[in-house]
Amino acid sequence: MALPTREDLDILDAAVMRDVVAGELRVSPAQALRLYDEMPLETLGRWADLRCRHLHGDHIRTYVIDRNINYTNICTAKCTFCAFRRDGDEDDAYTLEYKQLLGKVDELVEIGGTQILMQGGMNADLPLGWYLDLLRAIKEQFPQIHIHAFSPPEFVEFIRFFDPPESSLAGKLRWVMRQLADAGLDSVPGGGGEIFAPLVRRKIGLGKCDAQAWLTTMYVAHELGMNTSATMMFGHIEGIADRIHHMELIRRWQDKSIADLGGGGGGQYKAFISWPFQRHATSLGRCAEWGAGAGDNLDDPFPGDVVATLDGSGRKEAHPLFGRRIRLAGSTDYLRTQALSRLYLDNIYSIGSSWVTMGPHVGQMGLLFGANDMGSVMMEENVVSAAGAVFCLNEPMICRLIRDAGFIPAQRDNGYDLLRIHASADAPDRRVKDWSAYRARQLSVHRKEPQAEPIHLTVETSTFSGKRLTGSVHR
Ligand code: SF4
Repeated sequence: MALPTREDLDILDAAVMRDVVAGELRVSPAQALRLYDEMPLETLGRWADLRCRHLHGDHIRTYVIDRNINYTNICTAKCTFCAFRRDGDEDDAYTLEYKQLLGKVDELVEIGGTQILMQGGMNADLPLGWYLDLLRAIKEQFPQIHIHAFSPPEFVEFIRFFDPPESSLAGKLRWVMRQLADAGLDSVPGGGGEIFAPLVRRKIGLGKCDAQAWLTTMYVAHELGMNTSATMMFGHIEGIADRIHHMELIRRWQDKSIADLGGGGGGQYKAFISWPFQRHATSLGRCAEWGAGAGDNLDDPFPGDVVATLDGSGRKEAHPLFGRRIRLAGSTDYLRTQALSRLYLDNIYSIGSSWVTMGPHVGQMGLLFGANDMGSVMMEENVVSAAGAVFCLNEPMICRLIRDAGFIPAQRDNGYDLLRIHASADAPDRRVKDWSAYRARQLSVHRKEPQAEPIHLTVETSTFSGKRLTGSVHR
């Protein structure tokens, strides 16, 4: 049953926050806004950390070894924050062959990986059979690999591409998803969440499904017994109230999944991961930052905050510059938002830290601001890296970051069950003799300008096989 909210209580009162940490009280949207606006960062972080410790204990923090595979960059949508998509007739448009895709899974297996995260652009040329055959081929060759694939916007486009013989949105989604699940799909990733508030979403996610369709897709996945994750991309045109409204919808639909399906083998949101918008090479990134545009006055509120409402009903007429100014999120905004998500999403088990966009050390700090999970060892990433953020960590480095934050690193699977707890001297990080070589080679690789050629990143796999792999980061 959902926890109660108490609007009459002062959320800044330590006694009230102790009830939140204990899982006896739910933070309301208005209280969340107060936490964001008024609670000092270190205090907010400490409460989020305590809540995380209440759920996950004091000792173990996790990571997963998976591979992010983007099977095509051809996409019907034109999200203004995306530097990855291509039209089908562009020179560098691609769709990977089965052989390439299976080769990537094979490389993952070599380093002890347990799952693939497979998402694409939304490519109208690929028929349903292409996906079914691909999933069957992966499962046939690599039955041990968990397939976490196809975000809600892809599913919503699938029903347009494949025209299922059903009348309702949920029925159409169920028709497609059931076939993909029968062919090998194990769970559904939360890509394409961005910000749910309609005004923001329409402005940045051109051609992408709305919040209702996104959330319905995940509910259908839960009905079919699949777990999912939820995401949020912030730090652009949205207001802080939009972030809270976004979390509120996820929390509400998670309540619904648990209430309707929890006793009957249904799935649920297992994790929430949020990250800041990366502006490089995107049309949204060409918007002036608030304060840098003509006539901006930093003493005035940010246009997104003027427009945003906690119920998502904001009207663009509230500020003439809405959608024409961005407010990029730095590390403190990131940590504040992540900490808030831990406290707000009381019905979601895992909060992931986003070192891919924020860098290893802010990602590490995330473990003290409510996150229990460092996400994945990075073999390959094509989407946010196209927008400028490229950090690359292998297993020893992730383990060391977790250990240096005061925890024991543990490899997990997609269901957050622990596979290997690295407490002994034989741990991946403890076997490293020379850290300087690791740092120099690959701790972070930033690309300053768009480049025609892929950048090759070296990924150490010595922990498992003594081999080195090369991942490509494409435009
Ligand atoms: S973010 Fe995804 S859906 Fe949007 S344009 Fe890029 S590839 Fe397409």
